[in-house]
Amino acid sequence: CGIFGIYNNSDANILTYYGLHSLQHRGQEAAGIITFDSEQVMVHKGEGLVADVFPSSTLEKLQGSGAIGHVRYSTAGGSGYENVQPFLYRSNKETIGIAHNGNIVNATMLRDQLEENGSIFQATSDTEILAHLLKKYHGTFIERLIQSLNDLDGAFAFIVLHNDTLYAMRDKNGLRPLSVAKLPGGGFAVSSETCAFDIVGGTFIRDIEPGEIVAFSGDKLVSHYYSTATEHDMCMMEYVYFSRPDSAIEGVNVHTARKRTGAELFLESHVDADIVVGVPDSSTSAAIGYAEASHIPYEMGLVKNRYVGRTFIQPTQALRERGVRMKLSAVRAIVEGKKIILIDDSIVRGTTSRRIVELLKTAGALEVHVRIASPPIKFPCFYGVDTSTFDELISNRMDVATLCETIGADSLVFLSEEGLVKAIGRKTADGGKCGGCMACFTGKFPTAVYDELDNANKI
Ligand code: 5GP
Ligand code: SF4
Ligand code: MG
Repeated sequence: CGIFGIYNNSDANILTYYGLHSLQHRGQEAAGIITFDSEQVMVHKGEGLVADVFPSSTLEKLQGSGAIGHVRYSTAGGSGYENVQPFLYRSNKETIGIAHNGNIVNATMLRDQLEENGSIFQATSDTEILAHLLKKYHGTFIERLIQSLNDLDGAFAFIVLHNDTLYAMRDKNGLRPLSVAKLPGGGFAVSSETCAFDIVGGTFIRDIEPGEIVAFSGDKLVSHYYSTATEHDMCMMEYVYFSRPDSAIEGVNVHTARKRTGAELFLESHVDADIVVGVPDSSTSAAIGYAEASHIPYEMGLVKNRYVGRTFIQPTQALRERGVRMKLSAVRAIVEGKKIILIDDSIVRGTTSRRIVELLKTAGALEVHVRIASPPIKFPCFYGVDTSTFDELISNRMDVATLCETIGADSLVFLSEEGLVKAIGRKTADGGKCGGCMACFTGKFPTAVYDELDNANKI
């Protein structure tokens, strides 16, 4: 999912619309915006793309100098209108709004406890738990927030509105990104990705730190830490696949990092070929990196139909298969009679690679050598990415040689774990190399995962 917020700007509604629009790649199932100030709170949300959910007549009605927004890609809880965010809670005493990216791994346990104590949940999403925890604790809002966040395990970036104030926070492991920018017309913007700041004219200030709550107050940012047991375990898939190439995730530009994965793949796995082709759009950067390093020309061997959504985000396999078929075509004039190095960012279910090798061969390619700019995904992610069962993951079911045969490639090599860490080039506070979360490759989950592993086996 993608989350975005505005504090203290008279164009909160429009800026949030633009912000969400530039985060659309993070979720296309639903979108929502809450606007607010000391006088009022308004909400509009719906299923579909940002542009469809918010015609200008609807957007104009959302008044207030603050806003929180969300684009949804369903993981925990499933789809359906009742799970569309942001969530809004109004009582006689206070108004609370919540936008969440991530997944709470101890949600089932917390929900059971809360329900035993009388909570009634509206939706099946794990996000609602924060609202109920906030109601359970007493004290100032920040005290309640600190206590509530300490109960949560897993991955979260939250933007929370309370009456006329705004808060932004990240989990202790810093699994999901969240950054802050200053706006030219006054006030601040908060976003899952920095690409949204460019579109609203914001100037990046800094990332929210793991375990940190930033409270927006007038023209100041007030920082609170709810935990000191923090780590920097940023999701490596943010660099490999999710984020937009023009975003910087914890200081590392995504396009540049992807180019380095391509260069690293060349060092680890080179074969002779005529052209390098990337699977558009997410693998273009890695393919350019490979071409640069190998001095083999980068070519547009595949074109993408822009009007089909991201295949993976389609909730069922049948829709996904059809999505891939409608989405990509081979350029016969380019690929016919050629030996091709085909770069993709990742293999999850194998749908894309199998289809593309077939496309290229049908269009006359002599050889297709598939190179993947990340290691094999063997474990489900419990932190907000929709690969929830072991069975769905093709690299969990077969080794690389069998997979190569299955997708019909002439050779198949994945980037090594070390190669990925080196390419992304994240640094720890003391300047050392830092891998971030690689659990879907390694099975080393940075948090407790409760019964998620068992459930993932069963589903
Ligand atoms: P597959 O087709 O193997 O199931 O999925 C891998 C392909 O889907 C890659 O081309 C990748 O760019 C794309 N993709 C779409 N959504 C996701 C996602 O959420 N995670 C990953 N790793 N790849 C995704
Ligand atoms: Fe990201 Fe993989 Fe970790 Fe999930 S398990 S947070 S997809 S790196
Ligand atoms: Mg792709």
